[in-house]
Amino acid sequence: MRRKIVVGNWKMNNTIAESETLAAEVVAALGENFSGCEVGIAPTFLALEAAGRIIEGSEVQLVAQNCHYENDGAFTGEVSARMLFAAGCSSVIIGHSERRQYFGETNATVNLRTKKALSEGLNVILCVGETLEQRESGVTDAIISSQVREGLDGISDISSIVIAYEPVWAIGTGKTASSAQAEEVHLHIRTLVTELYGDDAAQGLRIQYGGSVKPSNAAELFAMPNIDGGLIGGASLNAADFAAIITAASL
Ligand code: PEP
Repeated sequence: MRRKIVVGNWKMNNTIAESETLAAEVVAALGENFSGCEVGIAPTFLALEAAGRIIEGSEVQLVAQNCHYENDGAFTGEVSARMLFAAGCSSVIIGHSERRQYFGETNATVNLRTKKALSEGLNVILCVGETLEQRESGVTDAIISSQVREGLDGISDISSIVIAYEPVWAIGTGKTASSAQAEEVHLHIRTLVTELYGDDAAQGLRIQYGGSVKPSNAAELFAMPNIDGGLIGGASLNAADFAAIITAASL
């Protein structure tokens, strides 16, 4: 049985002080001895340390939103996996569609960043997803396959990787994939991973869904056999909504 995982991607939201407040609200909303599912929050780089202090001793894990593929050097504006690990992060999100869309991230750089994060001791949430145009032209499976294959190229052990399926047309748009649409792609990913890594690794792999998950649709999505939790954007900025989604994943 795979343990569900819910991570809040705060994106470019919240000052340090606001991040501290939200982190404290999340810890309080989960209560003591929470063990329903794995939970993480991903504040901005700037607020990682402060939020990390607030969640220390709780079940909530510290997650970064991106990392570079070198340890250090002349890469203005970037942060390395080594730095994130030292700052207390346990995981990093890589290849989010906003990184691909606005910052030139490709399957090749996603692969480099993933390899570096793993080698520095971080778990990776590897994001994949098709655009509306790709879905409408019937190439969803092919796009997802190439993102998964190229993102994982040269990686022999996927035990520290979670894949997040996030249809681009559902992110921040209020349009959620139906549970059947999401399950179809999750099953496609698991089948592909079975081909690449064998049955045990594929059955152990957690595949999160992301794209306008809310308290009202979370339970139906998480009830699908191949949906192992969620990567939550907008709804993670409200502790009560985020906690309700976590509760739905803990049923
Ligand atoms: C995300 O950014 O990963 C995401 C899923 O955003 P939202 O929940 O706002 O659609």
